[in-house]
Amino acid sequence: MSARSLLITSALAVAAVTLVGCAPAAPAATEPSTTPAAEPAHWSYDGDTGPASWAEVDSSFETCAAGTDQSPIDLPATVPAPSTSIQLSADDAAGDVFDTGHAVEFESEGEGETLTFGGDEYSLQQMHAHVPSEHTVNGQPAAAELHLVNADADGKLLVLGILVTEGDASDAIAPFIEAATHVTDEEDVSLDIADVLPATLENYEYSGSLTTPPCTEDVQWVVMGTPISMSAEQIGTLEGAHSHNARPTQPLGDRVVVGGAAELGTED
Ligand SMILES: [Zn+2]
Repeated sequence: MSARSLLITSALAVAAVTLVGCAPAAPAATEPSTTPAAEPAHWSYDGDTGPASWAEVDSSFETCAAGTDQSPIDLPATVPAPSTSIQLSADDAAGDVFDTGHAVEFESEGEGETLTFGGDEYSLQQMHAHVPSEHTVNGQPAAAELHLVNADADGKLLVLGILVTEGDASDAIAPFIEAATHVTDEEDVSLDIADVLPATLENYEYSGSLTTPPCTEDVQWVVMGTPISMSAEQIGTLEGAHSHNARPTQPLGDRVVVGGAAELGTED
């Protein structure tokens, strides 16, 4: 399939971040050193170690409670008028699909998608799924949400969120879904990222955080205003791997959600 590119119009400044992605397994350009024997603190989506208690699970998770720019959020019913500019090129992405313990994740081998936002160039690090969606629109969750975690050379993060509604099956996401049925094999798959994106690319943009501990802030969010469709069976497969792995929405506070417009182009 030929490479495609798309232009997204948008204008938020990208704040600096030096951390691992929206889910724990993202490769990081500037991973902090840790003691070899350190066990990752256990957090979950339920009970004593659930979202309301993440800050108490480990002292390094305090931003989950103390932060003021947390994600996800409830988005307005309509995408605000576009005001900025992202350039995005998307092509086939090869990588492994595995289970992080909190989500099914596709880890890119460094190809597949690049984008320019706020003067910085980002590339796709990983994609994972939440069921149901983490972001809501006018208070309503979608059936699922994909997060395409991008990083720049300094480790700054930009997450493309794609909401999923139940309907026709998605051929583009099928290899990911298929691999999700046997993630213990850490299967190699190839995804056409351009085809995973919705046909209409206007989007919501705001500055937020990782939606998983340590809930680090200064993560740029770009959430597509138009959902993609997956079949009930495809959503069910993701749900079977991890059901309700969605953090509740967080207060918007002083932040402003702005809109971005998008244009799909082609490249050789
Ligand atoms: Zn996520």
